[in-house]
Amino acid sequence: MTGELPASPLAYALVLSREHTLEGHPEHPERFARLERAMASLPAGAARRIEPRPAPEQALLAVHPERYLRALEAACTQGPAYVDYAPTYVTPDSYTSACRAAGGTLNALDEVLSGRSRGGLALVRPPGHHATATRAMGFCLLNNTALAARAAQRAGLQRILIIDVDLHHGNGTQAIFEADPEVLYISTHQRGIYPGSGALEETGVGEGAGATVNIPLPPHCGDETFARITDQILVPLAHRFGPDLLLLSIGFDSHWRDPLGQLQLTCAGYSRLASTLVGLADELCGGQVLAVLEGGYDAEVLAAGVESVACALARLPSRPDPLGGGGYTEPDTASLLERVRESHGL
Ligand SMILES: [Zn+2]
Repeated sequence: MTGELPASPLAYALVLSREHTLEGHPEHPERFARLERAMASLPAGAARRIEPRPAPEQALLAVHPERYLRALEAACTQGPAYVDYAPTYVTPDSYTSACRAAGGTLNALDEVLSGRSRGGLALVRPPGHHATATRAMGFCLLNNTALAARAAQRAGLQRILIIDVDLHHGNGTQAIFEADPEVLYISTHQRGIYPGSGALEETGVGEGAGATVNIPLPPHCGDETFARITDQILVPLAHRFGPDLLLLSIGFDSHWRDPLGQLQLTCAGYSRLASTLVGLADELCGGQVLAVLEGGYDAEVLAAGVESVACALARLPSRPDPLGGGGYTEPDTASLLERVRESHGL
């Protein structure tokens, strides 16, 4: 018999998926090479690693229909192969890896919903936010964040706020919830890059009208822009919505050193953003917050960024930024942010 797990401020799952790999692809296991050490650097008792279990089929069906799961499984058995132009790859192990990534995310959510930890962190791959209900896209096979949102709804939570700060638009998450007024999806992303969606005018459909918020950013937006977005858009929208749970879809490819984009957040910027959002969770949803890793393709940035966000989730003081800033002048986004505010009645 196992006893009750000890409580800790932060519970995290680490799913490396070593067998889900394709030579030369940016989304590879070496991304995670420094994460174990980064998490071990937190003070004793601040963070507790949980053993991830594969997501049960029933949990996956809350987002992905059975015919998609069987098609994905079949595609994986025939791998290695590409399944979309991003390019997204599968290997014979990828279905198992994706189920474990989704499972680790749901296990971290359980820790939060049970009250054993206020913060949860899913350091999992393959990532999820480009995967729609029926399509693998953008290095993503199953939508981990969407699965967490649906699991939380099934556990009785009514209103879920998803904030997605990956470099890329989370088209999959948006599509899954665009008609659901109980899930507010807010995305910051660099405009004009993969997958091409995420225009300001995409604000939700049907009953979900207004519950999708897109903030497409020009290149070189960084800490100052994100501070304005936080103050002028994220905080007021969160207060108006009144969530029961905050899900943070966190990609570290918005960092200035990431090879795939031209935004220029720093680790200090991620830290401030995460601290503010965790503060919002404390204020609005009893501290219930789960961060789910999406992109981030520089292993050193990923480790430093994860450490800064983990500190915020564990309610620890922020640490010095080991990597500094990119040095570009940020573009003027005042009118863009005003348009976002206007179109959402702020
Ligand atoms: Zn990304």
